[in-house]
Amino acid sequence: MPSFSAWLNKGFDLRAYADQMADARTDPEISPASVFLALFHSFVFRLPSFQQLDHELSHSYLQQWIGAERPFHDDVLRYSLCGFDLDPLEAMLVDVNRRLKRGKAFDEGRVQGHLVAALDGIEVLSSFSRRCDSCLERRVTLKDQTGRKIEQTQYYHRAVGCQMIHSPVKPFLAIEWLRPGEGEETAALRLLTRLPDLYGSRFFDILLLDALYAQTPVLNLVHQIGWDVVISLKQNSRDLYQSAVRLFASRPPDAEFTEQVEHKTYRVQLWDTEGLPFTLDNPEPVRVVRAEEVLDRNRYRQGELTSHSTDHEWLWFTTLTRQAFPTPVVRQLGHSRWKNENNGWMDLTKHWAFKHGFLHACQHRPKQTNASGEKELVPNHGLAAVTLILLIAFALSSAFVLRHSKLARRDHLTTIAVAAQLRAWASKTPPSIRAPS
Ligand SMILES: [Zn+2]
Repeated sequence: MPSFSAWLNKGFDLRAYADQMADARTDPEISPASVFLALFHSFVFRLPSFQQLDHELSHSYLQQWIGAERPFHDDVLRYSLCGFDLDPLEAMLVDVNRRLKRGKAFDEGRVQGHLVAALDGIEVLSSFSRRCDSCLERRVTLKDQTGRKIEQTQYYHRAVGCQMIHSPVKPFLAIEWLRPGEGEETAALRLLTRLPDLYGSRFFDILLLDALYAQTPVLNLVHQIGWDVVISLKQNSRDLYQSAVRLFASRPPDAEFTEQVEHKTYRVQLWDTEGLPFTLDNPEPVRVVRAEEVLDRNRYRQGELTSHSTDHEWLWFTTLTRQAFPTPVVRQLGHSRWKNENNGWMDLTKHWAFKHGFLHACQHRPKQTNASGEKELVPNHGLAAVTLILLIAFALSSAFVLRHSKLARRDHLTTIAVAAQLRAWASKTPPSIRAPS
């Protein structure tokens, strides 16, 4: 904990950033800095709930570690976070990522010397009863107690995030929330447009995208910014998909090899072509790669070793050239997008207590005076604020474990084990000197 705390303050100005935080309360007794630092540490320690954080603040040395005025309860957290200022949080996330890049955190795992990011959507919070002004809604069919089908309106929130994925440290660069009534592509275009303003256009080189984004506006935007893309191709891009399948069916694979990953053997066949028209309306030529993979696994079934095979097919299209990025490299890039689903959002939702359902529908919020002089509730930023603090904690925790902590690397500790050790330390040991201010 002392080493973590020193690293955060020296390397990332944690405390200076905390002092920039602001919310909509007037003259609060507990500062926005304390609220930010408490929630930041609750994500670092992976506490399961706000109630648990409430408990740690009064029954451990966490209050001293973060320099809070006094212990406080989860009602203070909610009231502050619902009116939290998002700009300093986003500025801090951007600065953390810039410093990680300067510190060479993204050098390991470069693909042909290039840095790779991916875009992905995630749904958070769904409810049949609680809703807020910015909830998305949809009709879903359920079964009632008698087994009869009924339709109900479900309220939910969804966001698109951009994440570095080639290196062991995989922070999110930014996220964008879907607004009521709009599709995921619209939020994604907004995010991609905003990224160069936040980071410059050369922060990464290659962007991996889901089949959903195989659309002309997306392609035009990435050309304009200067990124290369690898986009998975599904039947929804009918023309390109079918012309690729037809072409490849008539010829032998361009590459064939066997790959051993742990106890799995992949027999891989690859096809590669340049110059297929993207769509009828936009016949810009693109390169398409197809992989046919047979996965062989040996299993013991009732004492006997049996072998089991499954077939998988993948298609991608890309702006990368064959000269610089041979076919197997495009396949590798295409697959790293799928890994993203396992250690990006999924990891956050599963292991980081990303379930603060009340935050979107909280009515207990500070008021402000509007243009016509009336008092009204401030817009609810609870969910967006909590998510940004989570992304900052995620970036810094994984960089600490994977790159900085000698103990964690020597003992091969997982990020979850390190979280438990940090929490135990803060619970039993006060900081030796007052935390640096
Ligand atoms: Zn909502």
